[in-house]
Amino acid sequence: MSLPSTYTFRWGEGQISGFLSAALGLLGVLAVLCFRFPALLTFPDLHSAYDPEVMRLALGCALLVAMILGLVNFCIGRWRTLGCIGMGATFVAILLGGLGAGATSSFGLGVPIGLDWFILDLLASALLFIPLERLWVLRREQPVLRAEWRLDLQYFALVHLLVSLLIIISSGAVARLFSWSVNAPLQGFISGLPLWVQFPLILVVADLAQYWSHRLMHTVPALWRVHAVHHSSAAMDWLASSRLHLVEVLITRTCVLVPVFVLGFSQLAVLLYVVYIGLHAIFVHANVRFTFGPLRHLLVTPAYHHWHHSDEPAAANTNFAVHLPVIDRLFGTYHHPACWPASYGIGPERLPPGILRQFLYPLTGWWRARRGGERAG
Ligand SMILES: [Zn+2]
Ligand SMILES: [Zn+2]
Repeated sequence: MSLPSTYTFRWGEGQISGFLSAALGLLGVLAVLCFRFPALLTFPDLHSAYDPEVMRLALGCALLVAMILGLVNFCIGRWRTLGCIGMGATFVAILLGGLGAGATSSFGLGVPIGLDWFILDLLASALLFIPLERLWVLRREQPVLRAEWRLDLQYFALVHLLVSLLIIISSGAVARLFSWSVNAPLQGFISGLPLWVQFPLILVVADLAQYWSHRLMHTVPALWRVHAVHHSSAAMDWLASSRLHLVEVLITRTCVLVPVFVLGFSQLAVLLYVVYIGLHAIFVHANVRFTFGPLRHLLVTPAYHHWHHSDEPAAANTNFAVHLPVIDRLFGTYHHPACWPASYGIGPERLPPGILRQFLYPLTGWWRARRGGERAG
């Protein structure tokens, strides 16, 4: 049986049990690999955030559920391939050591792969946003797994697996380039402010930095070819938020890190900000119909960011702010009609399919534009 590229889930056909079984079984295999090769596959900054024994218990539950759902799927459904994948993956996880898997190697690459970060964030995001999108759905006709969901999952995996490398590059660049600007009394004053003052302040300075880096990405052709990857999705949902070129991730994180580093916010304020942007960035792309009434004037909402992704000419180059709409009002780029956009994407510009070819698009797109210019000349 060949699997279609979009899935509109219906009860009683075995799709839901099949997908859950396959997803949990495959994530179970990856989790067992994390236990076996922690130095290679886990993100050290995350270690203090979870208890390995609780994770083992969660792994056991996930494998059990994967097996049960695989059996249910096999008995009731037309989607037995998925159930077979789920049960097969569960067997592989058990063969690799299952719940008893311990560290068999201290081999590492120097820069660890964030496989544990990928598993935990994928599970947490899916558990939070899929029900949210079902309960308060904006576009009911859009399937849960719409076209190109596999592509976006690859982007999600890539950024999470390379989390250590991205942090090392961006924080190293900022520390080296801006060490001259460090002012100890100023940093002491900022980090001594109460959290309820630091947090909104961090939103303001980070959004000002992000506003201008984002606006440049829309106006400088070379940067637009990098950012076009994010805008190429023709559908909006929680997973579409992860479609980001690695170069864009690096540029944006570095730009935002500059004021945060120079002003010296406390660790707790930075942690709170990181958690907030992690959730908020996914939320504003989600297929949900929240409008937030008058609060939409204060904070960026899904409707606000959906307009940024709209392919309508009136919405082009508007709503660059990611936290505070007042910044767009200040610089004349605010656009928020009292309705939702009809469609999304980048119009006639076509990106090549596949993550690798999209990763090269800033170069191939530039080459094509240059050849086109030559021919026109
Ligand atoms: Zn944009
Ligand atoms: Zn976006």
